[in-house]
This record gives sequence, C-alpha cells and structure tokens, in this order.
Amino acid sequence: MLRFLRRRSAHIEEPEGTTCLWCRTVIPARTSEELFLAGAVLDPGAGWFCSNSCARQYTVRFRVQPTRTPPHRSPTSH
Ligand SMILES: [Zn+2]
Repeated sequence: MLRFLRRRSAHIEEPEGTTCLWCRTVIPARTSEELFLAGAVLDPGAGWFCSNSCARQYTVRFRVQPTRTPPHRSPTSH
C-alpha cells in the first residue's frame, strides 16, 4: 500500500498549488486564504511568494523604489 502510494506520487508530478515566483517552491495552496494560512506572501504587483524573504528579494531585484533612487551624482566632490 505504501509502496503503491509512493510510486504513484513519484510518477505524477503535478504541482498542486502555487509556485513561488522567486525560488519556485510549490506552496500547497491555491486560494488566497489557503496561501496566507500556508505562510505565503502576496505581492500585489507580482504574485505569490513562499516566504517574506523571497518577496523581499524579488522586490529588491525587479523593482526600483521611487523614494530610494540611487543618486547619479555623488554629493561629495573631490
Ligand atoms: Zn520562495
């Protein structure tokens, strides 16, 4: 019985859930409520992440925050 189940689950690789946009971990939840309960983090502009750190890394990499634009000219002159 156990063997059968194992074989079956190994054979069928259907992602039953939502994939984290950053690390591609499949969160075993589909609705937003389930995702929140699973500890997933929603980025309204992007999608779901398995954890806060994933969401943060994604934001840091793909988004430029308008309030924190890096200065083109250095304020200190030589
Ligand atoms: Zn993740």
